[in-house]
Amino acid sequence: MINFEYKNPTKILFGQGQIPKVALEIPQDAIVLMVYGGGSIKQNGIYEQVKDALHKHTVYEFGGIPANPEYDILLQALAVIKEKKVTYLLAVGGGSVIDGVKFLSAALGYPGDPWDILTLRIRTEEGQGMPFGTILTLPATGSEMNSGYVISRKETNEKLAAGGPGLFPQFSILDPEVVRSIPKRQIVNGIADAYTHVLEQYMTVPSGADLQDRIAESILISLQETAPKLMTAAFDYAAAANFMWCCTMALNGLIQKGVVTDWAIHAMGHELTAYYGIDHARTLAIVAPSHYRYNFETKKDKLAQYAARVWGITEGTVDEKAAAGIAQMEHFFHSMDIDTKLSDYVTDYQDTATRVKETFIKRNMTGIGEYQSLTPDDVYEIVKMSY
Ligand code: NAP
Ligand code: FE
Repeated sequence: MINFEYKNPTKILFGQGQIPKVALEIPQDAIVLMVYGGGSIKQNGIYEQVKDALHKHTVYEFGGIPANPEYDILLQALAVIKEKKVTYLLAVGGGSVIDGVKFLSAALGYPGDPWDILTLRIRTEEGQGMPFGTILTLPATGSEMNSGYVISRKETNEKLAAGGPGLFPQFSILDPEVVRSIPKRQIVNGIADAYTHVLEQYMTVPSGADLQDRIAESILISLQETAPKLMTAAFDYAAAANFMWCCTMALNGLIQKGVVTDWAIHAMGHELTAYYGIDHARTLAIVAPSHYRYNFETKKDKLAQYAARVWGITEGTVDEKAAAGIAQMEHFFHSMDIDTKLSDYVTDYQDTATRVKETFIKRNMTGIGEYQSLTPDDVYEIVKMSY
């Protein structure tokens, strides 16, 4: 196991009826900016619950953060924060709203051009960002209990990530009842995103971190068992609760400690969202099978372990089990009506591999993935395999 440090300061309030507790978590004298997305919270009653709970606080609002939080819109929020002398941010939404709030928190303490934070990947250290909490409305990203964020900029077709220990939410409220109103398409996106988060931290050269492996495998199995229960018409609270907690546990830092991580699937996937607007989770389902097939030799031991422990495939050689594991992964995505080829989403895709390769060279991303061993030429091949 590799040496590690671990600190996660986010307080989780989990379960039915927890949303009103937001009033106890935000200081009474705070000037709050409540940030939300395109309006789902006004249709499912979450907006009223939050407003009622905070009726004794000073609360301003900023709605309209789009899926894949857009830089230009966040700059407008930044202006409101300065104008109203806001002291506390509250994100009410999914990963996009939470990531947007993290960027705002970081940008407020940054003296230069806010876009530099993303292009130069400037870390926000402990105590630097503006304090914020979240009310999660869409299980998926794990952003509610981690310190990373991803921001998009249409003007330049970019989608860039940053973060730092100063950007953990102070608290996150996780009420599984919110899952009731989420369209099935978004639910399966959430499952696929969380599933790939686990894969990115698990499918690497074995590090002898037995507990991390077993926790990762448990999250994968739980997501697989939960998926069909969430795809039926009737609402299943237990399934929603398990789904929600799996998504948080998949990316709150725990399973990545002491192991080598990868994250190449996300790096390539972000480009597909930036070029074509494909949902984040679906870009991961496009890239993952090709990534594992291309890197078969270095990853086959772990792939075989995944096949055996997660899918019960115990017959065959390491190579056979590893190949069967990738096939099961693809089958799992398909079982949720998620297509796994770029050509299923875009007709004009032929130059994508070249485009991704050139973008990575331009950004100096010359070594990504496990041990930073994938060059832009490897990236070209993987993206091409995903057509
Ligand atoms: P999202 O973009 O936050 O939300 C997707 C859609 O779901 C929105 O249209 C939203 O509508 C709707 N929605 C949210 N809650 C709902 C509810 N309870 N009922 C009905 N509709 C609801 O989705 P996401 O997958 O959570 O976030 C994706 C973003 O997170 C991407 O930009 C991705 O790159 C990033 N990400 C971040 C991390 C991280 O660690 N920080 C990890 C992975 C991915 P409204 O806008 O109307 O609310
Ligand atoms: Fe993700």
